[in-house]
Amino acid sequence: MLNYADEIQKIFRIRKVKWHSLHNLGTMTGYGTYTIKSSRESNDEVERAPKRIKRVLKQGQGVLDEVDLKKLDIDRERVCSITLSPLNVYACLKCGKFLQGRKENSVAFQHSIQEDHHAFMNLHTGKAYILPENYQLGDNPLLERIRLFIAPSYTPQQISELPVQCFDIFNNAYWTGLVRLNDNNNSSHITVALQLIARIPPIRDFLLLTASDKFEDELLNRLSLLIKRIWSSHLLKCHLSPHEILHHLSLTNSSLLTPKNTPEPKDIFLWIINRLFGAAPAMKKLLSKEMRGELFSLTQEVPRHDNQQEDTKSLENSHTTRRKIKFWTLTLDLPPMPLFKDGFDTNSIPQVRLEDLLTKFNGVEKAQTKQGTIALSLSKLPRLLILHINRFNRAVECPIKNRNQTIVKLPSILKVKGSKFKLIAIISHKGVRGTYSDETELDQESQWSIIVYEKSLEEWFEVNDKSITIKEKELLFLEESCIQVWEAME
Ligand SMILES: [Zn+2]
Repeated sequence: MLNYADEIQKIFRIRKVKWHSLHNLGTMTGYGTYTIKSSRESNDEVERAPKRIKRVLKQGQGVLDEVDLKKLDIDRERVCSITLSPLNVYACLKCGKFLQGRKENSVAFQHSIQEDHHAFMNLHTGKAYILPENYQLGDNPLLERIRLFIAPSYTPQQISELPVQCFDIFNNAYWTGLVRLNDNNNSSHITVALQLIARIPPIRDFLLLTASDKFEDELLNRLSLLIKRIWSSHLLKCHLSPHEILHHLSLTNSSLLTPKNTPEPKDIFLWIINRLFGAAPAMKKLLSKEMRGELFSLTQEVPRHDNQQEDTKSLENSHTTRRKIKFWTLTLDLPPMPLFKDGFDTNSIPQVRLEDLLTKFNGVEKAQTKQGTIALSLSKLPRLLILHINRFNRAVECPIKNRNQTIVKLPSILKVKGSKFKLIAIISHKGVRGTYSDETELDQESQWSIIVYEKSLEEWFEVNDKSITIKEKELLFLEESCIQVWEAME
């Protein structure tokens, strides 16, 4: 492939000029410096340049001038805006439209003639062309920059240096990994789950290093691309639209999006983790090692004769069974809330220690279930211990309004079975007045946000669809946490 920038360098000699002052050689504002003589001299050079180079320059001239990064919206579904086909789609780099094909009479070809727009980039391959001539452009910094907008890529070295502070094309500062996902459709329960996946180092690193078309599961390709963009230092805008992956989720598992079911972020998170688990052997190994724990359940059964559990092993007598259970998350139950006649304020909300909730898994505490009396004991703890605080009872009327708002007091270091853990992320809930609720039906809808600890900055950040704010560590326990991620200390 012809290296456009190198060819230009060969032709012109030496005086430092910013890219944006290059006359007729493409707009590369703020992107490196190159050296040429004055524009008049440079035109003379073009005239004297070898025939092949002259052709490249003439065809490149003006075409890259027309590129308008602010018109590019790569968060959209990557389908042709005319045919709606996802195949062979190009972005017009002047107006931002997604159009199919580049051969004669294709949509993009006709667009180039009708609209007089000429620079196009294939959204899948990243190759750039001048249309209607169907001439492939060589590498140059502007095109490379656009390729990174469309599909960021990473090396292990770059990952080890994350996060970094950067600026989008509107000059807004942002930290990679701390990027808002727009919520246009009451989908915060999904976007926080996606954000959580982006914050779990082994999954994040695997997805950053895997090409976004390598999975057979299209959902994972889209997830991989979204995570790459959340951590990208080459964002057009410092917030992203998760539209592409939400659209795919709606096709794959529409129940996750149905507001009536009010699925929690935990449901989305587990659904995606299970998809990842089955996607690639390397991912399976990684998830098993980092996130999968084991516990035993000892069940003193109510006498019955239709035991269908296959992996059970009788101990003591025929009515006691011991099962090994693998888990991604441990669900913790809150003590029942007292009834308040006139509402309650923060001071009257009951509080409970996290360690007390974990006694559910000490092998001594017993719970009554339909099957009998069950005692649970942890046998293997994962490096990333994910706790789910069970606040919602879907069986009651108005489950959001009637949720359990008990405050869970957080230790600075959590000790479980001799291991020590530090908190790295929380998914937090807020009940807000529902869109259709009247005066007596407050707290009908959920708003979710993720609160994460950024080690290198030594700060906690709350990220939701509207803002990113620094949080006081000492006040985190006041959050209505529904998921907590604890990382084992070395
Ligand atoms: Zn166009």
